[in-house]
Amino acid sequence: MGSIWDMVIIGGGPAGLTAGLYAARAGLKTVLLEQGIPGGTLINIDHLENYPGFADGIPGSELAMHMMEQATRFGLQTEIAHVTGLEWPSDAPQGAWQGGRVLAEEQSWQARTVVVSTGSRPRLLGVPGEERLTGRGVSYCATCDGALFRGKVVAVVGGGDSALSEAIFLTRFAERVLLIHRRDQLRGIQVLQERARENPKIAFHLESVVEEIQGQDGVQGLVLKHRPTGKTETVPVDGVFIYVGADPATGFLPEALQRDVRGYIIVNDDLQTSLTGVFAAGDVRLKKLRQVATAVGDGAQAAMAAGEFLANCDIR
Ligand code: NAP
Repeated sequence: MGSIWDMVIIGGGPAGLTAGLYAARAGLKTVLLEQGIPGGTLINIDHLENYPGFADGIPGSELAMHMMEQATRFGLQTEIAHVTGLEWPSDAPQGAWQGGRVLAEEQSWQARTVVVSTGSRPRLLGVPGEERLTGRGVSYCATCDGALFRGKVVAVVGGGDSALSEAIFLTRFAERVLLIHRRDQLRGIQVLQERARENPKIAFHLESVVEEIQGQDGVQGLVLKHRPTGKTETVPVDGVFIYVGADPATGFLPEALQRDVRGYIIVNDDLQTSLTGVFAAGDVRLKKLRQVATAVGDGAQAAMAAGEFLANCDIR
């Protein structure tokens, strides 16, 4: 069975790492479970300009490394695990976690409290060719794959902050970047819109949707439809970066943990979920502003609330 943890944190993005820092520093026996590289969405951010304290900005991966080092210095333990579910005693009062277990494929951890900070996963476009060519020219991470397109032509799909900032980033490598957005108005903030428009390597295809991604062993082109006219054209590109938003990573959670229609976890002011003893922090929870700065605030708040819960809890 192993020992019982004061806190098990699921997901090692900025929210989880901050929860880990606060909990470990408060002397709570805490483990953070992460299925890949810690950092979460930070890993995909080439240059973060609006995180306080870094006047010149900071690469997301570097900030993630600092957060990880700081938390582990205070005693946070980390393990690589793909969490598959939560299980709690059948005789627990309704809506109470009551020292249940966090389950992975071959392991489990008993926890007095749990912080769910699994963030979100990139949304797929859902067009022919996308799945087949993922990893062969279709990408959801410019920071990871951008350098493969030196001197090439790439498309970026989406009109939000991610699409704009990653299109600008890709101009470091690509000869030309086509920004494809379904409406005539971009969603991203003004400063990014201006920077993208001023960049001579970026060409805008507005009111256009991707109908198909073409290619055999790699991406060769896109079938684009211009919405107002209904006209389609095939545009040759070597790669496609898709930034059409994200969905919460909550598929592994039991139904008892209340979510909204889109899957975001519903919490109270203490970031407590519908299951007492289970907290949610960062992009995975229902909230208005999903930023690194707000994820970090969530992590701190969830850890402090969990600490208060533990002070009054008799789970042995
Ligand atoms: P987002 O703001 O939700 O934007 C998604 C974009 O994709 C929208 O332009 C949307 O079009 C488009 N879209 C959605 N579904 C589509 C589909 N099926 N086909 C074609 N286009 C589709 O997502 P995001 O840009 O990833 O940003 C998410 C959050 O992170 C935001 O709060 C953002 O501010 C934040 N963020 C911040 C920074 C930063 O520098 N601080 C960087 C990246 C992200 P419509 O506009 O028509 O809906």
